[in-house]
Order: sequence, then structure tokens, then C-alpha cells
Amino acid sequence: MRDLGIEAAKITRALWYVDKQACIFCGEEQGVICPACTTEYLHPELGRCRGCGKLILSEKIHCLDCEAGKGPKHLDQITAWGHYAGGLKEFIQEIKFKAHPRRLMEIARPFSDWAISQLPVVDGVVAVPMHASRMAERGFNQAEVISSVLHWQLGLPILCGVERIASTSSQVSLSRQERLHNLKGAFEVQQPEKIKGRSIWLVDDVTTTGATLEAVAETLRESGVQAIYGLCLAAGLEKKLVPLCD
Ligand SMILES: [Zn+2]
Ligand SMILES: [Zn+2]
Repeated sequence: MRDLGIEAAKITRALWYVDKQACIFCGEEQGVICPACTTEYLHPELGRCRGCGKLILSEKIHCLDCEAGKGPKHLDQITAWGHYAGGLKEFIQEIKFKAHPRRLMEIARPFSDWAISQLPVVDGVVAVPMHASRMAERGFNQAEVISSVLHWQLGLPILCGVERIASTSSQVSLSRQERLHNLKGAFEVQQPEKIKGRSIWLVDDVTTTGATLEAVAETLRESGVQAIYGLCLAAGLEKKLVPLCD
């Protein structure tokens, strides 16, 4: 009887702890990410376009753009944890623009668990690099912090070697073609011997058109990287799905 009492106390304590964790997106005390925010931002019911990472209907493999040959060509696959909207968008923007990189620790476990369930195990992770001038402004590269989170959670080595040598203006208002043009020659591999023949996860915070991942991947391929899987916290949603999610 006494043992049962101890077990019951342990279970009660465990339940209490889980119940008292506030959702990182909405603050409800229902676990790290509450069921409502999981549905709203992470969309476990949707698939991810293999070509660009966009959220699509689960029975599809590619979005309409990638089906039409307008997606990235230099990556084996791209995937994204959730939809870049609402609470997830605010979370990412707070990290970047209010200088709270430490908040990425809060999603370390669910994001890493999800990543390893979606992508093959690789030799290491490579962060999309940031130009020195942007780094001086912001103080950290969020893609590097996400790579560190994956390193700590999954034990994947962090591979270095690619640098952003050209500073580009904001890409927000540009089309995919304009973005690709804007990024031409922006990246350079400093030590190709360190990544030649490797398989990697190429990590960034957000992908919309896949143009940045594509430009980095092209440079990595030229240096002999064998397999490249793009991994982001958030991506866009296939256009025709938007009304479903309003
Ligand atoms: Zn929530
Ligand atoms: Zn796509």
C-alpha cells in the first residue's frame, strides 16, 4: 500500500508539472505547445512539399509551384515545422527583432523530435549564414542558434564552412526570381574539404520561396556536399489551403 501511495504521488506530481507548463505561443497552461496552437500553427494533419517545405494537403508530395518546376533544385528535400503565421510568426519575430534568441530553448524538444521524424539522419547541421554587417546589427544569427539547439538535442555535429560574403537588401517584397538574382554570388564555402562528401541539414528560421536555401545549397553542391535537406521552423501555406485556415 505504501508503495502504491508513492507511485500515486509521483504521477500526481508529473501531471501537475505538465498541466502547469504554459504554452509558448498563447500562454495557456496546457503543456509546452497547447492542443489549440498545435492545430493552428503546426498543422500535423498537413503534409510538407518536398520541394520547398510549404504546407500542403497530406496526400500530395509537391505544391503546385514545385509541380510546375518552379521550386528549388539543389536540395534533396525541404521541410518546415509549422505555418509562418499567428503565434509562431510572432515567436520567430520576437527572437529576431527583440533579441531573444534564448527563447529557442523553449521549443528545443518538440522541434528536434519533429525534425528527426521527418528527415534522414545526416553527418551534421549547417546554418544559413548571415552577413557580418547584419550580424553586427543583430548580435546573433538565429539559424546558428537553431543549429545549436539541434546539436544539443540530437547530438548532430555543427559543420561550418559557408559564409555570406555579400550583404543583400531585404527580400520581403521580391519575387522568387528576383530573390535568386539578388542572392547570386552571396555565399562562399571557405573550407570545402570540411564538407565535401557530407550529408547535411541546412537550417534556417523561415522559408517562403526557398530562394535563400536554394542559393546556399547551390554553393554547397559546388563544394561537393552530397545530400542537402532544408529544415526550417516555419514556411508558407499552399495558396488554395489559405481559406481553410482563416
Ligand atoms: Zn497555445
Ligand atoms: Zn513546393
